[in-house]
Parts: sequence; structure tokens; C-alpha cells
Amino acid sequence: MPDKSMKICIVGGGPAGLSAGMYLEQKGYENYTILERLDRVGGKCWSPYYNGRRYEMGAIMGVPSYYAVHDVEEFCGITHDGPKLNRNYKNAKGDVIEPFEPKKNITKIPRLLKMKKQIQQLGEILETKYKGYDLNGHRGVAQGRYEGFACTPDREPVSGENPYLKDLALPFSEWCRLNNVELAQDVWIGPYTSFGYGYFDEIPAAYVLKYLDFQTCMNFVKVNLWTWKDGTQFIWESLNNKLKNPARLNSTIEKVERKDGKVYVTVNGVVEEYDKIIVTAPLYIPGERMDGQKGMVDYFDTRADEMELFSKIDYERYDVQAVLTKPEDHPEISYYVFDNMKKERLGHLMVYYRRWKDEKDQVITTYALRKHKDMEEIPYDKCKEMVLDDLKTMKNPASEVINEWSVYYFPHVFSDDYMAGWYDKVEAMQGKYDTYYAGEIMAFGDMDETAEYSRELVERFF
Ligand SMILES: Cc1cc2nc3c(=O)[nH]c(=O)nc-3n(C[C@H](O)[C@H](O)[C@H](O)COP(=O)(O)OP(=O)(O)OC[C@H]3O[C@@H](n4cnc5c(N)ncnc54)[C@H](O)[C@@H]3O)c2cc1C
Repeated sequence: MPDKSMKICIVGGGPAGLSAGMYLEQKGYENYTILERLDRVGGKCWSPYYNGRRYEMGAIMGVPSYYAVHDVEEFCGITHDGPKLNRNYKNAKGDVIEPFEPKKNITKIPRLLKMKKQIQQLGEILETKYKGYDLNGHRGVAQGRYEGFACTPDREPVSGENPYLKDLALPFSEWCRLNNVELAQDVWIGPYTSFGYGYFDEIPAAYVLKYLDFQTCMNFVKVNLWTWKDGTQFIWESLNNKLKNPARLNSTIEKVERKDGKVYVTVNGVVEEYDKIIVTAPLYIPGERMDGQKGMVDYFDTRADEMELFSKIDYERYDVQAVLTKPEDHPEISYYVFDNMKKERLGHLMVYYRRWKDEKDQVITTYALRKHKDMEEIPYDKCKEMVLDDLKTMKNPASEVINEWSVYYFPHVFSDDYMAGWYDKVEAMQGKYDTYYAGEIMAFGDMDETAEYSRELVERFF
């Protein structure tokens, strides 16, 4: 019988940490403590105020298959009550275009028809050849197995053998070539690269397809999306308020030592004793980080196997700016700039987002990537200038920048490490040092996959 009175430390008060608290509590574990280094919860769900309304510096939206987020909503008695999103497209010159509308692209009709057919094919092979591809997390994939819980509200346990799943370690562009569905990338790229998750020639297909499974991608195409009036941060604030043990804010963890079956955490100068620790904060951050945030390996008594595996983790550099415009320069809708989602246009504005339909004086947020694994990283200030110049080209110049954020984003491993079974090695370490690893790296960098991974972690080990 598991000891439900055990003391559990959870590092991080973002979606993964708070939902770990919720699922533990629902399973009868009430002796948990959530330590959050900042003075707020929500992590990358950050919704600051401007003129009494909240805008999004981090996560923006969800889709109807966000079952774990839905669990949180039910637990808190809240719902997705935000503005309906809509968007249009521009080219790099700032002209409005309709890239998927045959009547507006007569010369491209054969390509558009082929694309439509390939998207259908993609849907079919995902259901058949790649059965099991969409489970949360990456257990077994590199070995040609699937193991997890069905992506349905009841989340039945499922497992099986499927050698084709090994293909998912390939970069997504190569995987598409292998399956003759290259043109599907034209659609998948919108909610992928512009959302900061990297480029298809560098990122293993597993990440792309687990996040943008067929249904989810179609929800983006049809703009069947969830938002929250008070921002995504509100979801996690609401959860924090409901938990028996809300996160302890401003907790600086100086040291974690694991010995004799106990975990000793030095937090704000005081040593606390726990039985288990769940890490949802970054495991590894290469080099110096602009905001001083550290990886777990920097404050834990890191073991050789942890160091070896976690040092393979790479991040995107995803920059967000919140800007004001003069009323006459205000975009009437959000815009996606597909031309700028190519790696040759690294550092350029890929999408800019207008949240409320009715207000001219509202914050517009801009998004750019400035890193690709085979290219020189674009410095932060240069990228910022490029984005502000792009806004001028888009005919929506900024009059003022009111907030900015350089996010170390979407931790992932590259194809070689994925293929060599990185995930199975880390999964085999779960619990080994009384330590469990959760958060973005273990599934995918979005609110639901991280919360869902926490659900499964609690289900599997507690
Ligand atoms: C610009 C942007 C747009 C996004 N858009 C979407 C979207 O539309 N939809 C979507 O689903 N997702 C989106 N995301 C992703 C989503 O926000 C993240 O995947 C999600 O927040 C990850 O949750 P997490 O708890 O794993 O990590 P985080 O949210 O990063 O939370 C980790 C927490 O740990 C804390 N922490 C770090 N180190 C320590 C330490 N040493 N001690 C204590 N605490 C520590 C951090 O302060 C943070 O609060 C977006 C993110 C960004 C940045």
C-alpha cells in the first residue's frame, strides 16, 4: 500500500507543478509542498494587466481536447470564457494574402489540391501505420512501442507494439518525405513554428505530431479554440487558490541533497526534509540565462546519469514583445506571416496577436524565434529591432514597447538522442533518487501536455 502521508516536494508552480498538486490531492496525498521561485504562479502562462484587462505574454489558447486543462477547470469551477480568436495572413511585404483560398491563388490550385490530398493521407497513416503516435509522453516510441493512456476524456490505459513509431525520431520534414505528405507541412507550420516550437528540419516528428495530432491541427485550422477572459494565468491562479497547499511563492531553492531515502531541500536558507521530490522546473539550461534562472542540475546533488542525459536538452529562444500602436495603426485582427516562418528569415516577426475585437487601445503581442540548431543565434536586441521594423512593414508600427520577454522555450532533444532512447532512459530513472521528472521536456511544451504528464506521473507512481 502506498504511504499517502509521505512528504512530497514539487519544484515549480507552473501548469505541471500545480496540476501535480491537484492530482496528488485527488488521490489522497495531502502532504505536498509546491515551491515557486517567482512571486506569482502560472510559469509560462503569464497574463499581465493593461488598462484593467489582461494580455498574454505566454500561453494564449487551448483546444477542446485539452482534457487535463478541463480537469483543472472543473476542479476550480471556471471555464474558457475568453474572446473568440480570429486571424488573417500577410506576406513578408505586409500585404494581406489568403494562401489557402484557391480563388485567390489560381496558379497554385494544383499545389493546393495536392496539399489537401496529402493532409487526408496524413490523417489516414496516423490512424493506421502510426497507431499509438498521439499518446502523451514518449515512452517506448524509440523502441517501436506505445504505452500510456488514451487521448480521450476517460484516458483508458493502452499499450502495444508498432515498429513504425521509430520513424517519429526523424526530423518532421524528413518524416513527411518518407511518407509522401510533404505539403502537409504548409498547414502544420502555422500552429507549430510560429508558436515557438522550432523548425521542421531540426525537430523530431514525435514532438510535432504528439502536440499537433490530427484533431488538434484541424481545430487550429477551423479556429476552434479556447481562451480565457482573464488570461491563461487565471487558470493556474484559480487552481492555486483551490489547492489545500497553495504554492509557496518567492522560494529560492539553494540546494537539494538526496540521501538515506530522504530528500533535503534548502529553501530560503532553511533545510526541509521530504520523502520524494517532483521536478517540473527546467532540468538543464545551457550557459548563462538572461533572467538568472537555473536548471535542476545546478542546485541538485546531480548524479552522473542525470547529468549525462539532461545535458542533451536543447531550448528554443522565443521572444515576445508587448507593444502599443497609435489607434490608426492598430491591426484589426491577428496576423500570421508564413514567409517569416522559414529558417532563412530567422529573427523576423512570425505572428502578431490582437486579443480583443472591440478595443483600439489594447496591447499587441509579437513573436519571433532567433535560434536554429545549424545557424548562428541572432542576438536578443537585434531580433527585437527586426521585429519592430517588421511591424512597420506590416503597416502596424509600434508606438511603444510596454513589456518584453526572452523565453527559454520548448525543451527537447534532437533526433540522434531521441532515436538512442533518451526518453526511455529518463523514464527508467523515475523514482530512482526519490526524484520524479515532469514538466515540458517529458511530454511537450504546452499547458495541456504538461498537466497531462503530471496526471500520468501521479497515476503511475503514487
Ligand atoms: C509565448 C508563449 C506562448 C505560448 N502559447 C501557448 C498556447 O497558446 N497554448 C498552450 O497550451 N501553451 C502555450 N505555451 C506553453 C505553455 O505556457 C507551457 O508549455 C507551460 O506553461 C509549461 O508548464 P510547466 O509547468 O511545465 O513549465 P512553466 O510554465 O515554465 O513553469 C515552471 C515553473 O517553475 C518555476 N521555477 C523554475 N525554476 C525554479 C526553481 N529553481 N525553484 C522553484 N521554481 C522554479 C518557474 O518560475 C515557473 O513558474 C506558450 C508559452 C509561451 C512562452
